[in-house]
Amino acid sequence: MQNRWSAQEAADMCARYAESHGEPLALRTYASRLLGSDPALVLHGGGNTSVKGVWHDLFGEPVAALFVKASGWDLAQILPEGHTPLRLDFLRRMRDLPALADETMLQIVRGQRLDPEGATPSIETLLHAFLPHTFIDHSHADAILTLSNQEGGATLLRQALGEEVIILPYVHPGFALAKAVAEAHDRAPHSRGMVLLQHGLVTWGETAQESYGAMIELVSRAEAFIAARLPGASLASAAAEAAAWARYRQLAPRLRGALAMASGCADQPFDRFILLPWIDQEILALLAQEGVRETLLTPPLTSDHLIRLKPLPLWLAEGEAQGDGLAGAVQDYRQAYIDYVARQSQGGVSEAERYDSTPRVVLLPGVGAVCVGAEVAEAERVRDLLAATLRVKGAIQRMGGRYQGLNEADCFAMEYYGPQRAKLALGGGTGGKRQIALITGAAGAIGSGICRALLAHGMHLAASDLPGAGLDSLLTELQATGGARVMAVAMDVTDPASVAAGIEQVVARWGGLDLLVLNAGLAHVSALETMQVEAFQRLQRVNVEGTLHLLTAVGKLLRQQGSGGDVVLISTKNVFAPGAQFGAYSATKAAAHQLARIAALEMAPLGVRVNMVAPDGVFSDGDRPSGLWAEVGPDRMRARGLDAAGLEAYYQNRNLLKARVTASHVANAVLYFATRQAPCTGVTLPVDGGLPDATPR
Ligand code: ZN
Repeated sequence: MQNRWSAQEAADMCARYAESHGEPLALRTYASRLLGSDPALVLHGGGNTSVKGVWHDLFGEPVAALFVKASGWDLAQILPEGHTPLRLDFLRRMRDLPALADETMLQIVRGQRLDPEGATPSIETLLHAFLPHTFIDHSHADAILTLSNQEGGATLLRQALGEEVIILPYVHPGFALAKAVAEAHDRAPHSRGMVLLQHGLVTWGETAQESYGAMIELVSRAEAFIAARLPGASLASAAAEAAAWARYRQLAPRLRGALAMASGCADQPFDRFILLPWIDQEILALLAQEGVRETLLTPPLTSDHLIRLKPLPLWLAEGEAQGDGLAGAVQDYRQAYIDYVARQSQGGVSEAERYDSTPRVVLLPGVGAVCVGAEVAEAERVRDLLAATLRVKGAIQRMGGRYQGLNEADCFAMEYYGPQRAKLALGGGTGGKRQIALITGAAGAIGSGICRALLAHGMHLAASDLPGAGLDSLLTELQATGGARVMAVAMDVTDPASVAAGIEQVVARWGGLDLLVLNAGLAHVSALETMQVEAFQRLQRVNVEGTLHLLTAVGKLLRQQGSGGDVVLISTKNVFAPGAQFGAYSATKAAAHQLARIAALEMAPLGVRVNMVAPDGVFSDGDRPSGLWAEVGPDRMRARGLDAAGLEAYYQNRNLLKARVTASHVANAVLYFATRQAPCTGVTLPVDGGLPDATPR
């Protein structure tokens, strides 16, 4: 591990922040970022740092202060404001208290803020306050955990780090740990740092550089010690990786369905999850090692991983992932989790207070790992923590060691620890009824409007259209707000192989699919007498066969998943009130409409609802013109002797409400069905401002 301290960067940071916040806090900010930007040291808000200095109160009087990292800040991007100033003298006196409940401790600590707008200080604040040194750094470094989380860890750490380090057995973070750290320090005041077993490393110094340097040096010693005892990692073959992906694509929808939780709500009976696969040659080799199950089917590395990873992963041996075994294994996992909470709380945690029983990590030898989250960002956090977990546990396995994590009682104490729960709430919580949507014809006017509405509603969205500039620009536009919840799927709905490949792409990315919006469509203007059969067939292929291919493929997928779903077809008012010269469009859309009605009949037993939205002409959506109207508009205008604006006004004036129908109106109607506002299937909702001729009957 490299010491990345740079005198120039430190000076730059002082130039930026020393005048407003003082030099110690400027350097504290710099060194904290160095720690935070190395994932082998600190992950996702883990780790914390502090500096002791002076705060000037309202009257300009100096007050001795502890500036300690506030929760909610990430060390990698921390600003000076990320360290909250607290009354140091008061905090130090708290050491004389014999004991203190952690909730009370946190309330009191919060009450000692010198800046009333300061963010909530870290739950490890008192540990920083009780140590006498000016700068304190605390990390959960991989290399330290590799040694501290195995049998005989204290001996290994002593060999690796030497005599100038204190080694403290596990103590539940909070008041008791802060006191234990201070007492251990008093017994060996000239030490450079302290390892907290099953937790991490604390270092200190009179300067930011000294404390950071001690952190890097001690972690480097641990790394060198491990490297000398670690055989190289083996890799699975490329063929094994390809086979793993093929297996995963088969398995993912069933796994996702099994992980979905019954919500108890009749309209939205499932709380679903997003699956993020992690499949590569390294993890395949690790999962194939003999005895690795005993190493990996164990509690997390540190207590702050618990809230994201749960106490244990779900291990699915190759045979278990087949057939009914999968659902049974998930059920057993849920029951074991419920039993663990009941056992440890002795009935003190009610069902409503209990976290959900769904695993966040599934380990599948021969396939890889699957990270589970209520949304993709949460699954990504799980993946980052799992990466650290596998680095550490994998190294212990290869060293021939025996992993030793928190025991069950300590796991429970931390998982159901008030401040941790608050952290989870800050992170957005879990358990959303998250849907994965696929929409065809996404790059058009109506399609892009629907995409934005689905994203705004929190869905994960696969926007599909023919490959090209329209789809590319839509992806860029949607990612600006939807981020990782958006993917583009280039798909030709007339080609069953292309449809299958597109759906596979969504399954590989997020694990499955819940909502299909059938929006791709073509129009053509011609009287029957002059109709070219080729033109008719072109519409037939997109409007009818395209609908069929998707209903076929998605129907199979929803059946495998077994957790319901929704289909919304963008129909048209022409199904009910066809227009002259519009035979190809009206007839093929009527066929698609009829297919959707059949799908409503066939898919109802699967808990899948199929509904139709029938708009009148939508001309554009912002800058996106309707491709359909680009095709038929000029003919319509000529036929009626109108210009473009006149044509739009004509459509507006022919409905009862004199309403201009927009893409977002259509999107709202899609959402009405997709969010299941009423128990409907096989229903058509006209979005046309009121056209008596086109009322469904
Ligand atoms: Zn910690």
